[in-house]
Amino acid sequence: MDGGDAPTGDEHEGAVASGDARAEQQVAEHGASSSAADAAAAGDGSGRRVLLAAPRGYCAGVDRAVIAVEKALELHGSPVYVRKEIVHNKHVVATLSERGAVFVDETDEVPEGATVVFSAHGVSPAVHASAAERQLKTIDATCPLVTKVHKEAVRFAKDDYDILLVGHDGHEEVEGTAGEAPEHVQLVDGPESVDAVTVRDPEKVVWLSQTTLSVDETMQTVERLRERFPTLQDPPSDDICYATQNRQVAVKKIAPSCDLLIVVGSANSSNSVRLVEVGLQHGARAAHRVDHRGEVDEAWLEGVTTVGVTSGASVPEILVTDLLAWLAERGFGDVEEVRTASEDLLFSLPRELRADLKAAAAMKA
Ligand code: SF4
Repeated sequence: MDGGDAPTGDEHEGAVASGDARAEQQVAEHGASSSAADAAAAGDGSGRRVLLAAPRGYCAGVDRAVIAVEKALELHGSPVYVRKEIVHNKHVVATLSERGAVFVDETDEVPEGATVVFSAHGVSPAVHASAAERQLKTIDATCPLVTKVHKEAVRFAKDDYDILLVGHDGHEEVEGTAGEAPEHVQLVDGPESVDAVTVRDPEKVVWLSQTTLSVDETMQTVERLRERFPTLQDPPSDDICYATQNRQVAVKKIAPSCDLLIVVGSANSSNSVRLVEVGLQHGARAAHRVDHRGEVDEAWLEGVTTVGVTSGASVPEILVTDLLAWLAERGFGDVEEVRTASEDLLFSLPRELRADLKAAAAMKA
């Protein structure tokens, strides 16, 4: 994060379960049909229920990025340009588009002098330079926890380390982080990529990571890297962010009890896709990702007693509420929230936007 973007709370909340987690263990076999009529006839005796994971949905970085676009629209009017999806969620992007945001792939699609918001996933210095050349007014909504990883990359590059960036090839966040020090960064896309890594000095190697990976898979990759480079240095602090970790911990808690896990989130949302994988790895008998309730296949409910529900860090709660209503209509009205951590992290708005808001308030006064 840059100097003006200090979070208002701790950057790294504990990802460890706390307080009132109370997931129940494996439920009894239930072979009845899934019709709402049967459930109504059975009353609560049907045993059908939903385990609702918490934390789920919006993280502090997503919340900040979405509010940044909304405030920019209020201040500057439409259009406000946004480079890439502000966050990886179709519903959010569609809603902001309706309000006047214009999403573009690159800054050269933005008219000279216009306002452009950079997404929560971050951008490389080359993108900042391109925007400056076009005299764009920029609002940088990069999540401060992504900016933290950028700063680590810059620091280790300055000390001439080879930086092994664990992440997914082509993901915007990885492009932004690698762009901070392209001469020093090598992407490691999972354990199977480790053998192809080459370094200049095996004694001077550090690993960093994308913020939204599976914790378990990342540690497998790091173990493989350490077999090759025993003095591999760890990041100064966790790069996988608190929100990603907390959502995975909550899914691990409910997964063993779930006949079916439904993850609300878009296909390009890394942390949402990871939740499906984590659910399956930790005992969910089936798991699917959907953008919204309209994508749920009713056949998935056949023979199911317990449905787990969660959502990725870029998903507004309304999509989960809609899904719960849909499930309730089909006999799954008994909802138990299983909370494994509490989150109260908030980030202040991007510095440029705060300055604009202050200036607008002064004009009014
Ligand atoms: S998932 Fe983590 S890194 Fe990404 S925006 Fe949310 S808090 Fe920031």
